[in-house]
Amino acid sequence: MSFSHLGLSDKVLAAVAATGYKTPTPIQDQAIPHVLARRDVLGIAQTGTGKTAAFTLPMLTLLEQGRARARMPRTLILEPTRELAAQVDESFAKYGANHKLNVALLIGGVSFDDQDFKLTRGVDVLIATPGRLLDHFERGRLLLTGVELLVIDEADRMLDMGFIPDIERICKLVPFTRQTLFFTATMPTEIQRITEQFLHNPVRVEVARPATTLATTAQFLIKSGRQDFDKRDTLRRLIRAAEGLKNAIIFCNRKRDVATLYRSLKRHGFSVQALHGDMDQPARMTALDQFRKGEATLLVASDVAARGLDIVDVSHIYNFDVPLHPDDYVHRIGRTGRAGRSGIAITLVCGPKDAIAVAAIEKLIGRTIPYMAAPDGVGSASEGDAAAARPNGGRRHGERHAHGHRGRGGPARQPQGQPASVTRIEDARTRRTPQQSPARSRSDEADAAHLPAFLLRPLPVKA
Ligand code: AMP
Repeated sequence: MSFSHLGLSDKVLAAVAATGYKTPTPIQDQAIPHVLARRDVLGIAQTGTGKTAAFTLPMLTLLEQGRARARMPRTLILEPTRELAAQVDESFAKYGANHKLNVALLIGGVSFDDQDFKLTRGVDVLIATPGRLLDHFERGRLLLTGVELLVIDEADRMLDMGFIPDIERICKLVPFTRQTLFFTATMPTEIQRITEQFLHNPVRVEVARPATTLATTAQFLIKSGRQDFDKRDTLRRLIRAAEGLKNAIIFCNRKRDVATLYRSLKRHGFSVQALHGDMDQPARMTALDQFRKGEATLLVASDVAARGLDIVDVSHIYNFDVPLHPDDYVHRIGRTGRAGRSGIAITLVCGPKDAIAVAAIEKLIGRTIPYMAAPDGVGSASEGDAAAARPNGGRRHGERHAHGHRGRGGPARQPQGQPASVTRIEDARTRRTPQQSPARSRSDEADAAHLPAFLLRPLPVKA
């Protein structure tokens, strides 16, 4: 099956051929003919399924008729985050290479004036985050009465982020007769209600989670000490010992922890960038860009910031925190193992609360995640912190980057229910001497980095 039977225009087909896609993905196959027939579509699909092209390609075909008027966008795409909006913008640039359409991006963190200038020229496709769109609307810089087609993408994430009232407001500002394409990965009651209210006799198109992600990603748990410095130590050792680590995303549950972990990894000589909601737009774009280009090996991120990002070919995912929602686990590990490539996802588990969260994840994905054998020294005394205190910036002799070092212990499967690492970690922790405790109890590498290395070195203790 090729793209040619879907009803797309020649210009669009030429752009698709230029990107190298041979066959439509299931969501493209099922949704595109309905979009072209001007039907409302309820797409239940997540990122990685090809859903962006499922709405971008038919929109480009439809937009070939008609022209844009000043301040009255013809189509509107709502995205929950700036990065996703920017990604859709890139898709229009790629698939719309043969069109002369005006595409504008209204996202926070970018100057109002530049955005306003674009609006005055007339916009065929307006891609926006809800808050910034309403800001422009309230300033009287934008009329939504010309919108012929509205796309609401990642609706369940909009719900998580508290954007549903904004979405409802926007839906009432665009003409009743517009066509609506609505995408969500899950169908909580609130989303169900919105679809009933704002979609007119929609075609429901549902595609399974990309099975490839779960099938091609090796997933492991590793037991870690509960304190943040223990977790950071475990993570560093895992990264240093990782086989075939090309690049990795490290997920934290809180923005604050993203920033702390980023600073810590940087201090330890890793090539790292951070991505969280409190960073301004240029900083987020730079971080993402550097990671995509391979200029930074590691990316520390929060769920919201990283949701739906299309970063092809990430070799490793580390869950520094067990995600609170099982769905987030699937989204996180969906960043690796893409397009049939193999990937590794490792989750740090430290305490009964984490174990409960892991049980919920295992229930959702329908499989048990095994504990992996700890790389040498995981959880042992403060080698990592001591390294940071070394005059050469924490690098061991000859160590340039984390990924340059290969330890002996790559992830190895443990028989289920035998978390070998648990014993090793706890043994190592109890081996700490009273002399070490004061330094460690400061619980921050910032402090450790200012102590002489000999104070942080593990001391042998006779049994
Ligand atoms: P999305 O779910 O829209 O984020 O797309 C996920 C990835 O799949 C992106 O890197 C797209 O470039 C890629 N993609 C989309 N459609 C196809 C297709 N028909 N064949 C191969 N790759 C595709």
